Amino acid sequence: MHGQWGGESGGRGAVGAALPCQDRRVATKFWEYLALQLTFLGTSSGVPTRSRNVSSVALRLPQRAEVWLFDCGEGTQHQFLRSEFKASQIRRIFITHMHGDHIFGLMGLLASCGLAGNPQQRVDIYGPPPLNDYLQACRRYSQTHFSFPIKVHAVQPGVVYRDDEFTVSCTQLEHRVPAFGYRVDEVDRPGRFDVKRAQALGIPSGPLYGRLKNGEVVTLPDGRRINGADLCGPTLKGRSVVYCTDTVFCEAAVELSHRASVLIHEATFAHQDAEMAYQRLHSTSTMAAQVALAAQVRQLIMTHFSPRYAPGNPIQLEDLLAEARAIFPKTLMARDFWTYDVERQDAASLVAS
Ligand code: ZN
Repeated sequence: MHGQWGGESGGRGAVGAALPCQDRRVATKFWEYLALQLTFLGTSSGVPTRSRNVSSVALRLPQRAEVWLFDCGEGTQHQFLRSEFKASQIRRIFITHMHGDHIFGLMGLLASCGLAGNPQQRVDIYGPPPLNDYLQACRRYSQTHFSFPIKVHAVQPGVVYRDDEFTVSCTQLEHRVPAFGYRVDEVDRPGRFDVKRAQALGIPSGPLYGRLKNGEVVTLPDGRRINGADLCGPTLKGRSVVYCTDTVFCEAAVELSHRASVLIHEATFAHQDAEMAYQRLHSTSTMAAQVALAAQVRQLIMTHFSPRYAPGNPIQLEDLLAEARAIFPKTLMARDFWTYDVERQDAASLVAS
């Protein structure tokens, strides 16, 4: 089940449309080494606090000037106004589940995008099956017209989106309502193309470079056969980002997160409050760390913290961090407007080369 409404159907091609160079594979060089950027726009669970809004995470894809949003709690559009992003950069929105602290900001954000007067490209929204009905009803009763196309995709476990650079898949987690964890995988890229060596071999520049960079075997006009792989450095491993909320510890989250570059996992409660976590099907900091450990991820970032750990409570958020680090040392704790760069695993050696 999916729905498309508002504006014109279609929209521009998703990939590389803004690149001026004719051959994208050669033109990619300057951004291949840029980080994917995660910015946390809301890190509180249930209700906002003075310093933390409800759930939303932005993933910026530098090669496309595009933002993908994960969850959209109430007030997310205000968080955009206070960040360096423009809401008009949002191209895809992934919703984990239908609880209000993850979706109440969606309607306002979409409505404002339309009013901004900027030419807005299509927005694809992915989420549980009721999401389309919910948005349709909001639109109908508030008589809101979107001036740009919106397409709502009902997700089920498996691949929900794929293009030639990224695959997004999801799996069902364990929460009080159907909740989906998402995983974004970047494809591996051929290593850096050695232009100087190609020039030294007398290979004419132009489209041939693109084919060689892609690892193809090319026959030159003079009859020589050149294997592109010989002119490329080591493969650039694609990065992966996993977003798991809301859920109690579950094997599905471990499977989804397998060897991810970054796992963003909810940590609503401290270990001491595990009883509440089991009752409400949320995670403790230790559960988040156990998922990260079992999945062998590179970095864990915890988010979705209960507002209860405020001054006055004997347990503080720093305690949640310490609990998690005792199990999985590579743990960080998100706060609103904090940006984390998802570097390539071999970024340091690439810079050195
Ligand atoms: Zn929830």
